[in-house]
Amino acid sequence: MSYAPAPRDPKLPPIRINLLSDTQTRPTQAMREAMARADVGDEQIGDDPTVNLLCERVAALLGKEAAVFMPSGTMCNVAATLAHCRPGDEILAQATAHIIAREGGAHAALGGFQITQLQGDDGQFTLDTFRAALRPPTRYQPPQTLVSVEQTANIGGGTIWKQDVLVGVADLAKANGLITHMDGARLLNACVATGISARDMASGWDSVWIDFSKGLGTPIGAVMAGSRDFIDQVWRWKQRLGGAMRQAGVCAAACVYALDHHVDRLADDHANARTLARGLAQIAGMQVQQPETNLVFFDPAGAGVSGEKLVAALGQRGILLATMDGRIRACTHLDVTAAMIDETIVTVREIMRAA
Ligand SMILES: *Cc1c(COP(=O)(O)O)cnc(C)c1O
Repeated sequence: MSYAPAPRDPKLPPIRINLLSDTQTRPTQAMREAMARADVGDEQIGDDPTVNLLCERVAALLGKEAAVFMPSGTMCNVAATLAHCRPGDEILAQATAHIIAREGGAHAALGGFQITQLQGDDGQFTLDTFRAALRPPTRYQPPQTLVSVEQTANIGGGTIWKQDVLVGVADLAKANGLITHMDGARLLNACVATGISARDMASGWDSVWIDFSKGLGTPIGAVMAGSRDFIDQVWRWKQRLGGAMRQAGVCAAACVYALDHHVDRLADDHANARTLARGLAQIAGMQVQQPETNLVFFDPAGAGVSGEKLVAALGQRGILLATMDGRIRACTHLDVTAAMIDETIVTVREIMRAA
C-alpha cells in the first residue's frame, strides 16, 4: 500500500490552466528577486532580520503581541494545539475542518487530543450548535479546552464566517473557559472580500495564523500570532517538531513581498471565481455553490457527467482540477487569468454537450 499520490499520466498534455489549488502558484520574478536580495541570519536564535520584520508585520496586521514564522500552515495548527492543550483534552471544530480531515491525524498522534465534530453548513457551525456542545466540567468527561474555526472554511466552499458569529463564538468560549484558535489559512481572502480588517476578524481569537503559500503566492511559509507567552510556547514546539530554521529570511522575504503586492489583488481571484461560477451555472443541471472568495465547488452529476469524468476530460485538454469530498473544486489564484476562466467555461460546456 503506497500513500504516494499517483504521478500525472505522461501521455496527458501539459497543464495550461491550473485550477487545482492556490498552492500551485509559482513565485513571480519580482518575488524571486526580493528573495535573492534578502538580509538573512540564523532564524533559530532570533537573528534573521527579514524573519523578524515579517513577524512584526504579521503581529501588527493581526493585532497580536507576537508572531512566529513556520514552515507550513499545518505546523501552525499542530504547534497551536500542542501549546494550548494537554493529552486527553477535547477540541471542538466543524466536521470538515482541516485539523480533522487533512493533517494526518496529527492532533491525536502527537497531542493525544480528541476532536469533537460540530455539524453545520458550509464548513461552519452556528452559535447555537456550539452552545449545545458545551457542558459543565465533570470528572469523567474530557476537558473541553479549545474551539477552532477556519476563516475561510475550505471544504465548506471558501465561505466567510460572519463577524457577529465569530464574536459570539469567541465570547461564549471565553465565558466557558475555552481557548480560541483561528485557522486563518485564507483569512486575508475573507478580509479583502468583506473589507473587514484582519485585526477585527482575529480579535477575540487567542491564536491565529495566515498561510503565505496559498493565494499570497510564496513557495513556503505561514505566520502564527498570539500573546507573547503563547508564541514562546509555540517556539518550544516548533523546535521539537523540527520547524526551527536557519537563513529563513530568504523565504520570509517572499512573504514580506506578498504582504506588499499580493493582498489587494486577491479581489481579482474572487472576481474570476464569480465569473467561473456564473458560467458553469448556465449549464443545465450543473450544481454550483456561489463562491464568496476564490474557491468554486460544483457538481456536474445532475447534468449527466460524473465529477471524475469531467475532471479526466478537462485533464485531457490541459485543464487541471480535482474532486474534493464528492464535488469538483476549482481554485483561482495568481497564475489564473480572466482569459483562462473564459476558456475553462467554454471547454466545460463542450465536454458536457458531447456527453
Ligand atoms: C492549506 C490549509 C491548511 C494547511 O496549510 P499548509 O501550508 O498546506 O500546511 C490548514 N488549514 C486550511 C483551511 C487550509 O486550507
